[in-house]
Amino acid sequence: MSRRISVAIDGPAGAGKSSISKVVAKKLGYLYIDTGAMYRGITWALLETGVSIDDAEAVSQALPHIQLELQATESGLVVLVNGRDVSQEIRTQYVTSHVSQVAAQKAVRTKLVEMQRDMASAGGVILDGRDIGSVVLPNAELKIYLTASVETRGHRRWLELKDSENISLEEVCRTVAERDMMDMNRKESPLVCVDDAVVIETDHLSIEETVQTLIDLIRKAELGGCHG
Ligand code: C5P
Repeated sequence: MSRRISVAIDGPAGAGKSSISKVVAKKLGYLYIDTGAMYRGITWALLETGVSIDDAEAVSQALPHIQLELQATESGLVVLVNGRDVSQEIRTQYVTSHVSQVAAQKAVRTKLVEMQRDMASAGGVILDGRDIGSVVLPNAELKIYLTASVETRGHRRWLELKDSENISLEEVCRTVAERDMMDMNRKESPLVCVDDAVVIETDHLSIEETVQTLIDLIRKAELGGCHG
C-alpha cells in the first residue's frame, strides 16, 4: 500500500528546488509549498512599510500586521500580502538582496514555521527551503538536499532575471554567494544538509532528469522503502 508522504527539499539558492518541486508536485498530485516565497513576502511587506529590517523589535512588532497567504493556481503560486498580489515583486533583486537578513530573525521564523507545519499537516506535500528537513519537518519520510556549484546556480538565476532587470552575471553570482554565506552561518535554523538527506547535485542534470530522480525516490518512500 502506498501512502502520501511529506517531502523536505533543502539546498542553496538557485539549486533548482522550486522549478523541480513544482513539476514533481503537479505530476504526483501533491501540494507544493514554496517556503522561500513566504520569507520573500514578509521581506517585501517590511521594505514597503519602511520597517528597519535590522531592528528585531520593530520587525517583531510589524509581523502581526502582515497577513500572508499562498494560493496554488493553474498559472503558478500566488503570494498575497494583506490581500495584495505580490508574486512578481517578491522576485526582484531588491527583495532578493534583503531576504536573508529578514529570514535570520527569530520572530519571522517562528511565525512562518508554524504556518508551514500547519499547511503540511495533511501529508502529500513537498516543501522546499533551507530548514525543512532540520526544523520544519524533521520527521519527513523523504529528505532531499539539492545543490550545484555557485557558477551554475548564479547562471540560472541570471537567466531568470536578465530580461526584466539590468544586472550582470557577476552581480547575480555575488548575491547568490552572499546569500549562501548568510543562510549557512546564521544562528537561527541555518541551511544544513541533514544526515538522512539524499544529496542530488544538479550541475550536470537536466530539469527532466532531476524530476525523474525525485519521482523515483518519492515512489519508493511512499511504499515505505528506505532511501540513500
Ligand atoms: O528559496 P528562495 O531563494 O526563494 O529563498 C529566499 C530566502 O529565504 C533564502 O535565501 C533564505 O534566506 C530564506 N529562506 C529561509 N528558510 C526557508 C526558505 C527560505 O531562511 N525555509
